[in-house]
Amino acid sequence: MQRLYEPQAYTSHVGSYWETTAPPQTWPILNGNKRAKVIIIGGGYTGLNCALKLASSGLDPASIVILEAQQPGWGASGRNGGFCCLGGSKLTTDQAIKRFGETETYDYVQAQKTSIETVRNNLSQYNIEADTHSQGETQLAYKPEQVAALEAEKLQLKSLFDVDCHLTSKSEMSAEGIQSPDFHGALTNPLGFALNPMKYVLGLSKAVSDIGVQTFGNSPAVKMEQVNGEHLVTTPYGSISAKHLVIATNGYSSEDLPNWLSGRLMPVLTNIIATRPLTPQELTDQGWTSHQMCYDTRHSLHYFRLILGINDEGPRMLFGMRGGISASDESNKIRLRKIRSDFERIFPAWQNVETPYFWSGLVCLTRNLTSYTGPIPEMENAWASLAYHGNGVAMASHCGTLLADMIAETINPKTIPAQMRQPPKHFPFPSLRRTYLQAAFKWYEWLDK
Ligand SMILES: Cc1cc2nc3c(=O)[nH]c(=O)nc-3n(C[C@H](O)[C@H](O)[C@H](O)COP(=O)(O)OP(=O)(O)OC[C@H]3O[C@@H](n4cnc5c(N)ncnc54)[C@H](O)[C@@H]3O)c2cc1C
Repeated sequence: MQRLYEPQAYTSHVGSYWETTAPPQTWPILNGNKRAKVIIIGGGYTGLNCALKLASSGLDPASIVILEAQQPGWGASGRNGGFCCLGGSKLTTDQAIKRFGETETYDYVQAQKTSIETVRNNLSQYNIEADTHSQGETQLAYKPEQVAALEAEKLQLKSLFDVDCHLTSKSEMSAEGIQSPDFHGALTNPLGFALNPMKYVLGLSKAVSDIGVQTFGNSPAVKMEQVNGEHLVTTPYGSISAKHLVIATNGYSSEDLPNWLSGRLMPVLTNIIATRPLTPQELTDQGWTSHQMCYDTRHSLHYFRLILGINDEGPRMLFGMRGGISASDESNKIRLRKIRSDFERIFPAWQNVETPYFWSGLVCLTRNLTSYTGPIPEMENAWASLAYHGNGVAMASHCGTLLADMIAETINPKTIPAQMRQPPKHFPFPSLRRTYLQAAFKWYEWLDK
């Protein structure tokens, strides 16, 4: 396997708070050679939703195989911030309209709305208790002059997409329990909700196992080839052949599995800390009592929310921001200092509140700044869905079902919104991707000053 980061980014230890909230599920190792109809690589939201939708479309669940390099939910799906929200591309609305036109941009917003409903339906259909909360999400202006941009965004969301957002002035923020010296106004979009990502992904994994899909853990695909018109995927102790192959590996993809991926993805590290449970007095001291999921208007944005406490525990603050360009221990130490100092600036009353959890994960970007869901060019019956640009709780769930519909031929890949069907372009000199990233981070830092 060829990957962009140091091996630490791909080792089994995650260390997230979420791991303490749900017992892990263990899929057996693939031993021996098997045949199937569909092989799915990756046991996260994309792969699991694809399997569930294939089965509900009539395909025999026993003819679907999921191969996971670690265990279900080990990737981004079990360690993310749990914002089930709009998103999936890095283009602004204006950029999207310029590139794809108003109608396509509107269709893409509809797809984002649908994706939130896909998650809501999954939770209900598979009886997944995932600690949901938050009425939509709130964007916070970190500079007074950005309040005008929030006002413009409110108007744009209403006029183009019929979404009614709510503006909160600085003086009203304390009444809403979102008080911080760092913020000067807020825009709340009513779409989306927060969840425990691990409980969600393990709920999907249980649903997949319950219906009889064949699932294998600690079984990385190490080789992919086409033999007698079928895909043959090899793992350390076995192999599977099938007509259809689905790549659902997102930021944890290997450059050569399949070779088409080489140089097309930009995995990016992002970090999260979580506090110990906060007392009612600490919440009041900071003036932050809302369980609304929030992010700020910085280019290198922070995302955070109070998460529900377990049993009688108080809530914890979960706080995320971008990582560095290396997954080394040294780089992680530097990033921990940075995330902790940003946390203390935003929540000064919590300077002495410990943050016992710190973890990292890979999100996935493309040069196009859009995700991709569809056939893999020049590979027959091979499909991929990836690169949700850090917003995949909802979008990966939805796109997994779209891949299943494409395989079942109930939708034509050309009919999904244009913003989701541009194959990722090659990065020029792909070995320099982390250098490009470093330059982008510096540029963002300068813009965010
Ligand atoms: C720290 C963090 C915070 C985030 N916060 C949010 C958020 O709040 N809201 C939001 O919407 N999105 C968020 N995201 C993004 C979101 O988690 C992802 O977009 C989404 O989980 C992608 O799901 P997936 O199934 O495509 O990929 P993943 O969940 O990453 O699953 C891919 C799986 O493929 C497996 N794999 C890789 N190679 C192989 C191989 N060769 N053989 C077998 N298996 C293989 C991996 O082990 C992995 O488990 C965050 C991501 C991170 C990392």
